Amino acid sequence: MKIGCHLSASGGYLAMAQTAVSIGANVFQFFTRNPRGGAAKPIDKNDVAAFLKYAEENAIGPILAHAPYTLNAAGAEPRVREFAESVMADDLERLELTPGAMYNFHPGSHVGQGAEEGIALISGMLSRILSKKPYSTTVLLETMSGKGSEVGRNFEEIRAVIDATESALGSGGILGVCLDTCHVWDGGYDIVNNLDGVLAEFDRVVGLGRLKAIHLNDTMNVLAAHKDRHEKLGKGKLGLDAIARIVNHPKLRDLPFYLETPCDLQGYRDEIALVKKLREG
Ligand code: FE
Ligand code: FE
Ligand code: ZN
Repeated sequence: MKIGCHLSASGGYLAMAQTAVSIGANVFQFFTRNPRGGAAKPIDKNDVAAFLKYAEENAIGPILAHAPYTLNAAGAEPRVREFAESVMADDLERLELTPGAMYNFHPGSHVGQGAEEGIALISGMLSRILSKKPYSTTVLLETMSGKGSEVGRNFEEIRAVIDATESALGSGGILGVCLDTCHVWDGGYDIVNNLDGVLAEFDRVVGLGRLKAIHLNDTMNVLAAHKDRHEKLGKGKLGLDAIARIVNHPKLRDLPFYLETPCDLQGYRDEIALVKKLREG
């Protein structure tokens, strides 16, 4: 199975891949730059070359790059939207050095402008960036919990961003989705008691063919809390039985799973071993 976790990017690509192997992972996620924003570190071409060789030898990937949280394409201030657009464009440009990566971002927060305006702003940014050239990286919209004014709080909003973007681009099948198990639960989708029903709903509204990655997290909150607080696997409201059903589900089991639980490296090593055990059982 494809299983890994979020790792610090501070040591570069090769260090992340080596760390992944050391904890039993074969995929990993990382922030493209400081999660609170700011300039990205210059790319070290030697590090990238060493990483690509190591990843090939150790069957690592796909890697999942995560945009900074401050990237808000749906912001009210032009400056906020321009920052989002320049960061995403720059991130995708840099990811061309690691072909076949995926790039996950939080669609944005409409900050009172309304979901419809938020969707228009987000799809406007995506279509401008993606019309420049065909990137080798697949851009993924993350399903959100609906905290504050988050766009992407339900499958319909995700679908609306996809449709508006791809109709502006004049081509389909470009955008993907990353389903975060904490976020969808906090958003009101009961993946504990009705995983089949939620996946059928996702398929009807978005299409399971769009689903490219799973953020595998437990959650501190009750169903539909709209809060977004991740918990260690089995220690939250989802519980290990639900986690086992998720990682074994025939519609999910071949996707890459990325842990974003509140763990240190040893904690992630333990959770990866736990998930592998759930898969065998
Ligand atoms: Fe995220
Ligand atoms: Fe997530
Ligand atoms: Zn989250």
